Parts: sequence; structure tokens; C-alpha cells
Amino acid sequence: MRVQKDVSLKAYNTFGVTVRTPLFAEVKTSLELQAVLKDMRFNDAFILGGGSNVLFLDQLSKPVIKVSISGIRVIEEDDHIAIVSVGAGVVWHDLVMWCVANNLGGIENLSLIPGLVGAAPIQNIGAYGVELRDVFHNAIGIGRLDGASKIFTAQDCAFGYRDSVFKNELKDRYVITTIRLALTKKNHELHLAYGALQDTLAQQKVEQPTIADVARAVTRIRRSKLPDPEKLGNAGSFFKNPIVKTKKLQNLMLEYPEMPSYTIDENFSKIPAGWLIEQAGFKGKISGKVGMHAKQALVLVNHGGASGKELWSHAQEVMKQVHSAFGIELEPEVNLIN
Ligand SMILES: Cc1cc2nc3c(=O)[nH]c(=O)nc-3n(C[C@H](O)[C@H](O)[C@H](O)COP(=O)(O)OP(=O)(O)OC[C@H]3O[C@@H](n4cnc5c(N)ncnc54)[C@H](O)[C@@H]3O)c2cc1C
Repeated sequence: MRVQKDVSLKAYNTFGVTVRTPLFAEVKTSLELQAVLKDMRFNDAFILGGGSNVLFLDQLSKPVIKVSISGIRVIEEDDHIAIVSVGAGVVWHDLVMWCVANNLGGIENLSLIPGLVGAAPIQNIGAYGVELRDVFHNAIGIGRLDGASKIFTAQDCAFGYRDSVFKNELKDRYVITTIRLALTKKNHELHLAYGALQDTLAQQKVEQPTIADVARAVTRIRRSKLPDPEKLGNAGSFFKNPIVKTKKLQNLMLEYPEMPSYTIDENFSKIPAGWLIEQAGFKGKISGKVGMHAKQALVLVNHGGASGKELWSHAQEVMKQVHSAFGIELEPEVNLIN
């Protein structure tokens, strides 16, 4: 393991923000991770995956540990299900492609989500009607204080919408080294409820889609809608879609009958944050070096050379205007790092 001093994190965050860390270690095995966790200099280190869900607000005073543990293998299987064990440093989309190539179903709707496998349980990644929790078997984490390894079941992880125990009670307490997924070997259950997915499959004249067709369709839709971080710095959806009481939604609908919403249960509904941001006039509008993306208003973008503070200040302005127009508090999905 190599420890480096005064390292730029520009290439390690998809916003492309220029910040430096005083100390940087990249670990390739659990043993290396345990060794670095024992090193007092790394006590309050920031744990970094692919940097696609973080906004560095300022120069980091903390060290950084980048988790690059590799490996994908089937560790258990029967006629129907395979349990696949994956190292935290594997690129998430590489895992999806590996599963499709090996005819293992369950994560094809999560194609092209940037980042590494170790971060997937942190916010219970999701897209096109599927979330990590739907296929999650368990994960191994190493305790940051005692270096001991612990297995987390789905129940332990307390997954919610872009949420888990690792963002709450166990925040900064464990480093994920491995996750295990339960994937189907045959009779795959396809999730095709999203209109865009059905439309794309129809355009491609696919009548009986396979998991490979679904992965291809999702990839196509995402490429057409979301900015490529290599070309335009961003971290995907910057805000969560707000969940409001049904009574509040009914009152809002009197004023905005065209407001889209999704029923969660009889008491709560979800409103697309992108719609609220668009109504507040931010879609495609550039303010200095930053703005909300022209094709998807939920995506905060760095148009070149913006600092973390400039990006966050724009996000706060969006939150303020949405609140004053609709009385709804937007909550960042992206992790803000000081
Ligand atoms: C263009 C674009 C589209 C996106 N679309 C989606 C989407 O559809 N759905 C979705 O859910 N997300 C989406 N995201 C967000 C992002 O891809 C996911 O949240 C992803 O899981 C982040 O992975 P990462 O490795 O980059 O994590 P990082 O950004 O490096 O880290 C995110 C958080 O996880 C912690 N962390 C990272 N690795 C570990 C570990 N091994 N152990 C413990 N903690 C760890 C970090 O400390 C940090 O708090 C998108 C992002 C972009 C740029």
C-alpha cells in the first residue's frame, strides 16, 4: 500500500472540483485496509469510492482512503439463485456487465450507474424501478475503530429511499469491503414498468426482452438524458425527490393541477424534484460556472472551474426558491464533504 502526501482529488470526484488532501492511501485488500485504519494519521479519514456522489466543499483537512478491493465470484448457488460476492473496488457497471454476460439477473436496470460497488449499499442505489436492496444478500464491513469485520444483512442495513444505516446510526463507522448479491439464474423477473424503458424496447423492436436487452435499453436512455461526468462535471441527481403528506399534495394540486406525483402509501406521495426545480426557473439556466442541467433539472453541473462552494451555493439558492414557491424542503442526495 502506498501513502501519498498532498494529493489532488480533481480526478477522483465526478464534479471535477479541484481540492487537495494532506494524505492519501489506496487499499487493495482487507488486510491493507485494516493496517491503514490502525494508523493514527488516518483516524478521521474520508472513505472514497469513485467520487460520483460527493461534493467537496473546500480543501480537505482530512486524509482519504480509497477502497480498490477487486474480485467478482459466485460463492454459492442452487438451480435458481447464485450468490455473487464482489469486492468494494469493482466498478458498478462492470459488475452489471459481468452479470449480464453470465446470465445472472437482477441488476440490469442499474446499468451505467457510476461509482464503485462499496458505495452501492451506502445510499441503496436505485434506478428504473430497481434498488440494490431488491437483490442484496449481505455485506462485509470493517469497523473503523476496532478493525473487526462484521456481516450486515439487509435488515441490518435498514435500506430506505437513497438511504441506509450507513448514512445514519452507523455513519463513518464501517468501511464496506465486499457485498454479496442474490441473483437469478433463470426465469428472470424483469422490471419494465418505466414508460421510457418500454418505449425504448419497442423502438428496438424487442418483444421478449432478455436481461441483456434491458441493460442495453437502460444504457441508451441514460446516455441520452444524463450528462457524462467526463465532459460535464456532475454527480447525477443532486437532490432526493421530496416525500410529502398526501394532504399537502392535495393542497398543492389545487394550485398546480399538472404537478406530477407518485403515491407511496395512503399517507405519503413523492414529487419529482426535477419538476419543482424546473418550475422555479432553474432548468438549463447557467449562473456563473454552475447551473442545473438543460435535459434534467435535478442534475447540478459544473460548467468548468467551479469550486465546491460555488456549486453548493447554487444548490442552496435552488432549495430556497423551491421552498418559497412550494413550501417544500429539498434534501441533497449527494454527500457534502468538508
Ligand atoms: C451521471 C450520474 C448518474 C447517477 N445516477 C444514479 C442513479 O441512477 N441512482 C443512484 O442511486 N445513484 C446515481 N448516481 C450517484 C452515484 O453514482 C452512486 O451514489 C454511487 O453508488 C456512488 O459510488 P461512488 O463509488 O462514486 O461513491 P463515492 O462518491 O466515492 O462515495 C459516496 C459515499 O459513500 C461512502 N463510501 C464509498 N465507498 C465506501 C465503502 N467502501 N465503505 C463505506 N463507505 C463508502 C463515501 O464515504 C461517501 O459518503 C449517479 C451519479 C452520476 C455522476
